[in-house]
Amino acid sequence: MMTTQTSKARDELKGTIKGNVLVPDQPDYEQARQIWNAMIDRRPAVIVQCAEADDVPAAIRFARKNRLELSIRGGGHNIAGDALCDNGVTIDFSRMKNVRVDAGKRRAYVEPGATLANLDEATQAHGLATPIGINSTTGIAGLTLGGGFGWLTRKYGMTVDNLVSVNMITAEGKKIRVSENDNADLFWAIRGGGGNFGVVTQFEFQLFPVGPEIVAGLIVFPFNQAKQVLTRYRQFVASAPEDLNVWVVLRKAPPLPFLPENIHGKEVVVLPIFYSGAIAEAEKLIAPLRAFGEAHGEHIGAQPYVQWQKAFDPLLTPGARNYWKSHNFTELADGALNTVIEFAGKLPSPHCEIFIGLIAGAPNRIAPNAMAYGHRDAKFVLNVHGRWDEAKDDQKCIAWAREFFKASAPYASAGAYVNFMTAEEGDRVAAAYGSNYERLVEIKRRYDPENVFHCNQNIKP
Ligand SMILES: Cc1cc2nc3c(=O)[nH]c(=O)nc-3n(C[C@H](O)[C@H](O)[C@H](O)COP(=O)(O)OP(=O)(O)OC[C@H]3O[C@@H](n4cnc5c(N)ncnc54)[C@H](O)[C@@H]3O)c2cc1C
Repeated sequence: MMTTQTSKARDELKGTIKGNVLVPDQPDYEQARQIWNAMIDRRPAVIVQCAEADDVPAAIRFARKNRLELSIRGGGHNIAGDALCDNGVTIDFSRMKNVRVDAGKRRAYVEPGATLANLDEATQAHGLATPIGINSTTGIAGLTLGGGFGWLTRKYGMTVDNLVSVNMITAEGKKIRVSENDNADLFWAIRGGGGNFGVVTQFEFQLFPVGPEIVAGLIVFPFNQAKQVLTRYRQFVASAPEDLNVWVVLRKAPPLPFLPENIHGKEVVVLPIFYSGAIAEAEKLIAPLRAFGEAHGEHIGAQPYVQWQKAFDPLLTPGARNYWKSHNFTELADGALNTVIEFAGKLPSPHCEIFIGLIAGAPNRIAPNAMAYGHRDAKFVLNVHGRWDEAKDDQKCIAWAREFFKASAPYASAGAYVNFMTAEEGDRVAAAYGSNYERLVEIKRRYDPENVFHCNQNIKP
């Protein structure tokens, strides 16, 4: 709780930073404490909306001096809601979204409040991109620090694999550069270790020529053909080239104009397809996918990369209630496919879905101990998206996600993707990092012995 003393300190903080300091009685406060997952309802005592990197040390000092918890908000998308803390200080980067591109060097310099859309738009202006996620409103900061994968991952690796450096503020409020050559131990740790080690104020990424037009779209199959589609999918992706990526989504059909109306709201199997190679080559690579079954419909074509990067935004809008569970897989065993089909056959809400993301390729060529993100044997990431509108459905939807998670666990590989973990999975953090965990703890002890940065999937010093 804020005391008179801390209120006075807060007023002083206002005078020392360029950004904005919000407290509960201010009109913008309610808006500022909204994040993507509507299940999270936390009320920070102070929200520091930074205007520049130099605002961050003052916010850290303020939190430490007043013994208040400290949370960091990048894009506010994390499912666990750790961007916010009750009665503490939230460092909010929503006003720092700038992206600068050096096309000659193929580098992007990104502020920590930038969304994937901000980065894609800036890099695509030069026909460049780096692998990031599939929903354009996600924050670059949290996505990168946890790993990051999307359509380009098969070919160019995880987002962390393309991180060149960061500027960071430590728990002591010190500004440092972190890269292979500067504070190399921290560079190892932040590539997967999340927000445990400091506050990143700038990310530097390497970029690759992509598009600006790629070929992408969806093929939608009837749910009663799911076994056949999934079995053929497994076989197909085992030898598909790395500039082709195909995922699987099992859900109730949204009202897409290319689907017959009587299919809307019915269970379907969707193959989202992405090809970043030569457009003339796309058709012959995609053609075999059509033979997986008798499709309800398809919508595939050449389009701007930035457009495809926003294709799933309408299904992933903020404001819904969400609960996720996730496993990595090195292969899709028959038992895993049967479990997916069983649980997709009893979706507890029209917005729930199970997706299988394909990441086989470049990420598998990096050693598991090269950085904190170590799931280098993972070829598929399976995520169960529990998503619904009303609190009265919480129990039913959470139970479905948990039961699915348990039933599919015997087929999963070790480790978990921290960016898809919900709040109560704290005891899964060590397991998520596997053999890299001990080194993370050791680095945490050196850089943040008091665990100032603990509003995250916490690595305890
Ligand atoms: C709809 C949706 C789609 C998604 N799709 C993908 C996907 O395709 N691929 C993928 O890999 N992931 C995906 N994710 C997961 C996503 O990577 C994580 O939710 C990620 O944490 C979001 O980052 P953020 O900055 O928006 O989150 P926030 O909630 O703002 O931050 C998450 C955590 O990151 C840390 N953090 C944030 N900013 C900083 C900073 N500047 N310095 C230090 N630490 C910081 C903090 O610990 C914070 O609690 C998706 C999530 C959602 C909700």
